[in-house]
Amino acid sequence: MPSTIAVFPGTFDPVTLGHVDIVRRGLTLFDRIIIALGVNTSKKNLFSPEQRMDWMRNIFEKESRVEVAQYEGLTVNFCRERNAHFILRGLRNGIDFDYESHIAQVNRKLDPGIETVFMNCAAEYSYISSTIVRDLIIYKGDYSSLVPSEVKP
Ligand code: ADP
Repeated sequence: MPSTIAVFPGTFDPVTLGHVDIVRRGLTLFDRIIIALGVNTSKKNLFSPEQRMDWMRNIFEKESRVEVAQYEGLTVNFCRERNAHFILRGLRNGIDFDYESHIAQVNRKLDPGIETVFMNCAAEYSYISSTIVRDLIIYKGDYSSLVPSEVKP
């Protein structure tokens, strides 16, 4: 049987415990996960792509089934390049669902051979977002319980 490869795309500015949980649980479904940091030139980020990739690589250093990569352009094109037939996304609430299902429909239209798989977020991480972490970093609040210890801004 061919190995199942999933792409987990995101901005990860910065990576949170919620993202890590999705990847770890995703490894029970897929043989390999490619964490794909989307570089969108029009989007202003707090941390550089290099910094975000470094944190991600450190977190999954010992996990041979996880790869960290960077891509530009359409997620489905990156999936095709890497022979991945699945896109993995996490859902925290109904707002995520509305947004994500729309993107998933568009991606299916672009390439019906790539299936989007949603994973329900763990209850203890459902309030965590990169936006909240960034605000805490900027305004000097304690964000340490929201991110992996490797994230050291
Ligand atoms: P994007 O900018 O593409 O939304 P993010 O880095 O914010 O990228 O998120 C990447 C993926 O991780 C998305 O599917 C998002 O729904 C999911 N995600 C974000 N925060 C959490 C969390 N706390 N728990 C589970 N999934 C999450």
